[in-house]
Amino acid sequence: MIEREQIEMDVLFVGAGPANLAAALHLKSEIKKHNEYVDSGRLPGSHIDDLEIAIIEKGSFVGAHILSGAVMDPIAIRELMPDFLEQGCPVDSVVTEDAFWYLTEKSSINAPIVPPPLKNKGKYIISLSKMCEWLAEKCEEAGINIFPEFPGADLIYDDNNAVIGVRTGDKGIGKDGKPKANFEAGVEIMAKVTVLGEGSRGSLAKQLISRLGLMDDKEPQVFSIGVKELWEVPAENFAEGRVVHTLGFPSDTDTYGGGWIYGMKNNVVSIGYVTGLDYKDPNIDPHLEFQKFKTHPKVAEVLKGGKMIKYGAKTINTSGFWTMPKLYADGVLIVGDSGSFLNGQRIKGIHMAMKSGMLAAETIVGAFEHQDFTAKTLKHFDEKVNLSWIYDELHPVRNFHASFQSGRWSALINSGLQFLTKGLAWGFMPKEHHIAGHERMEMLSGEGLPSVEERYGRVKIDKQLTFDKITDVYHAAVSHDEDQPSHLHVLDTEICATRCAEEYGNPCQRFCPAQVYEMEANPKTGRRELKVNFSNCVHCKTCDIADPYQIINWVTPEGGGGPNYKGM
Ligand SMILES: Cc1cc2nc3c(=O)[nH]c(=O)nc-3n(C[C@H](O)[C@H](O)[C@H](O)COP(=O)(O)OP(=O)(O)OC[C@H]3O[C@@H](n4cnc5c(N)ncnc54)[C@H](O)[C@@H]3O)c2cc1C
Repeated sequence: MIEREQIEMDVLFVGAGPANLAAALHLKSEIKKHNEYVDSGRLPGSHIDDLEIAIIEKGSFVGAHILSGAVMDPIAIRELMPDFLEQGCPVDSVVTEDAFWYLTEKSSINAPIVPPPLKNKGKYIISLSKMCEWLAEKCEEAGINIFPEFPGADLIYDDNNAVIGVRTGDKGIGKDGKPKANFEAGVEIMAKVTVLGEGSRGSLAKQLISRLGLMDDKEPQVFSIGVKELWEVPAENFAEGRVVHTLGFPSDTDTYGGGWIYGMKNNVVSIGYVTGLDYKDPNIDPHLEFQKFKTHPKVAEVLKGGKMIKYGAKTINTSGFWTMPKLYADGVLIVGDSGSFLNGQRIKGIHMAMKSGMLAAETIVGAFEHQDFTAKTLKHFDEKVNLSWIYDELHPVRNFHASFQSGRWSALINSGLQFLTKGLAWGFMPKEHHIAGHERMEMLSGEGLPSVEERYGRVKIDKQLTFDKITDVYHAAVSHDEDQPSHLHVLDTEICATRCAEEYGNPCQRFCPAQVYEMEANPKTGRRELKVNFSNCVHCKTCDIADPYQIINWVTPEGGGGPNYKGM
């Protein structure tokens, strides 16, 4: 039995993304406000003592694992810090021009009118990683404890299933499972309230949702994967402040997908492609979809003469309102992408994540005021969300992603109708609403699926415009100590060698954007078996989501391991 140090906190935030950083800062200022109101007699009740607040982050620094587009709607940061620009928030550029391209294989239509949800003029192009680093500095100035390299490995419950803290991951365990000379036991951080803001497919949120049945009576969360590169391009190729969104090529009409190109300072462009992880064809490879996207003449023109400088990939929780888990339980709240706070129609979640965190903070103030940390008090979070602009934004697009599950054309018609009727139009919607992505994947024997050659035969990897996964992973600066147990738990590798090989052709080899999974011939038997290169992992969580048998469980590796998305 490992002896673990216990650290007492009042509030513990798991994950230093925009949701929890905004939450912690807002909590500090709301407590100050509460105490001022009590002092001036405007509010009955008593002072809330200064709380001990901690944020734990699995990356080596805040921002290391943060990947986004990103065009930020400033609505939430303005509420959090009205003078965010004066305080030095590192926005990159202001959006000056919007465009929407419909791409066919060889040509494109520049839409005369940009669909309203994709209008971004006046909003900010940012590196979310940089912004989180800056928010973390603000948190530290406000007296909030930030612990990078501290992955939350397990939730700690009391006898009544109330969450009372988090156990962080051990360091220095060898791949044989035995402690090494540098072994450091994880600690138990006890807290009255724990807030899970782990982003898309949070690993603790997954444990919690399953244990407490927080998705019961809800529709399943449906995810997408965004694959992104940063490029330096000649100045004349693409203007700073220009924002382009695309639809069409290379996605087939059964697959949710689209691209983006954002013009940043210093002739850098952020370019990427989103593929819905509810695709049907197991031969789809989201990384190759992105490479193919770049070969489109109109896109290739933007990158001509340029140089790729950084790479990353991450999942996005795109399904929204119907797929929000119950957001509270005794001692715990779920915020940000972990709680489906993302507008899938705009592919924007930063402002929602921040606002959800701020509402969580206000709920926590109420909990301390009443010294009640059970669901009875924390349920007010749900009410606050439904009374806020989050509801006003998410509810009208509640059917958006489900409509894509019936194909692009019905989705476009439905989107238009939904826009006009604030989400009421149902037209061509499937009855089941959202279907979990892994349940939609068809077996290779499925009729009408193109072969890999048909899909990707013409994408030649030239390492100038298009890159293989290993080259891209190098540009994500991933590092994990290889002498540790794999954090990718494949629960039954026999399925990989037998049923999955036959039925789906081992799609993990394709859906993983970092070449973590490979089928290799066993030298003794000749049978192709699974090899897991866990040290390549970019923490995108695609494998945990997309595996058709749901036998891959992503858990946190040693703290500090993973990509380095500084500036992404
Ligand atoms: C490719 C891509 C493009 C996007 N483009 C846009 C855009 O243009 N505009 C927009 O508004 N939104 C965009 N989004 C969505 C937006 O980035 C998210 O909605 C937002 O980042 C969610 O914030 P979060 O705080 O919930 O989670 P994240 O930003 O994912 O942060 C979670 C943090 O928690 C840490 N963490 C996770 N688990 C643990 C654990 N167990 N222990 C410790 N730490 C942990 C992670 O390392 C990470 O630092 C995009 C997303 C992607 C992937």
